[in-house]
Amino acid sequence: MDIHVFRSETGVTIKADWDKCDGIGACSGACPTNVFFIVNGKVTAPDIDSCMKCGLCMAACPKGALTWG
Ligand code: SF4
Repeated sequence: MDIHVFRSETGVTIKADWDKCDGIGACSGACPTNVFFIVNGKVTAPDIDSCMKCGLCMAACPKGALTWG
């Protein structure tokens, strides 16, 4: 598995499995605070500190690529 861990200053941790991510951006479309971007076909979270832990990104991903850490 190719797991990438994004951790905020407040302790929120989201794990992204790049083996599952196909870069469709469902997570970035669902996130109300624009935490996610798709770079080179894979999800990344440069602004994880803006996460309000709603879980919409995980619900939106059809591949189940995102999980809490
Ligand atoms: S849990 Fe909510 S705020 Fe946090 S990254 Fe996912 S959609 Fe965005």
